[in-house]
Amino acid sequence: MNAPPRFRRLLECTPRGLYCPAGDFYIDPWHPVDRAVITHAHSDHARWGSQSYLATDSCRALLLLRLGSNIQLETLAYGQSTKIGSARVSLHPAGHVLGSSQVRIEVDGAVAVVSGDYKRQADPTCESWEPVPCHLYVTESTFGLPVFRWQETDHVIGDVLQWWAKNRAEKRTSVLLAYAVGKSQRLIAEILNVAGKQAAADLYVHGALVGPNNAYRTTGVELPDLPSAASMPRDHDWSGALILAPPSAQNSPWLDRFRDASIAMASGWMAIRGTRRRRAMDRGFVLSDHADWNDLKCSIEESNPEELWVTHGFAKTLARYQTELGRPSIAIDTRFAGDDEEAKA
Ligand SMILES: [Zn+2]
Ligand SMILES: [Zn+2]
Repeated sequence: MNAPPRFRRLLECTPRGLYCPAGDFYIDPWHPVDRAVITHAHSDHARWGSQSYLATDSCRALLLLRLGSNIQLETLAYGQSTKIGSARVSLHPAGHVLGSSQVRIEVDGAVAVVSGDYKRQADPTCESWEPVPCHLYVTESTFGLPVFRWQETDHVIGDVLQWWAKNRAEKRTSVLLAYAVGKSQRLIAEILNVAGKQAAADLYVHGALVGPNNAYRTTGVELPDLPSAASMPRDHDWSGALILAPPSAQNSPWLDRFRDASIAMASGWMAIRGTRRRRAMDRGFVLSDHADWNDLKCSIEESNPEELWVTHGFAKTLARYQTELGRPSIAIDTRFAGDDEEAKA
């Protein structure tokens, strides 16, 4: 990638991923490398096969769950710095999911920050995004279009609780589809915050959520140990229950155990008219672990880079917009899929 000369030792976009020449390491590489710095434990950012990994302390349990316990993993506290080659590296909260970080790289006084994925809405299950001023900022743009504007989380949770109450009154089962790492834990915590802890008695999860939930709990996030629906007796009465499941459960036989289920999904893509209908969903709740258009703008302003690189989703749109505002910006070619791709499909 054609970085200006003074950024050349800081960061390059290579066929294996974002690379720091001064430290000889990659950030979220999509091919195995010697040294990988990982922003967070989602599958498009944390890939198997590298010799060694560096991530935050609170990313550890999720990363071991994703990549296996025999990887060589070193962790840092947020804000703690380490020297890799001639680069100084530190990890700062990204607010995306538990343990997610923005990677700050400093070489000869020049600073690059790679944001990974991030959001700025409060989330009781992860650390809050912090601005990290830099010369070169790599931002995601999963929802980088002005149509994406998130509502207050409380409002969305209120809608979820209403939908659940209506189903309960009709003796139906509520199945809420959400990404298994991050979104599901955030939903559980937010639902219990509003509905009260006793509501946990009617909450169940799909088996795919058991591992991530445990990883959150071992890391110190307050979440109840919810039973997997598959572990319940075959004749269990599901009327009135709320079950969280990954989007892939929608077309699986797992769903058959609930005779009359109302299916909903929580995703940023639900903001697009027609997504819910195409997926044959009863309800769509707009809730994302990514920044919306305004929050992308604010985050870029607060990071205040001289140059911006944009990845994910609507990268070209955001890069063009920022260039017009007077900030040199380019869309870079990466293989990050976007966590909500499954929901978009
Ligand atoms: Zn992610
Ligand atoms: Zn991503």
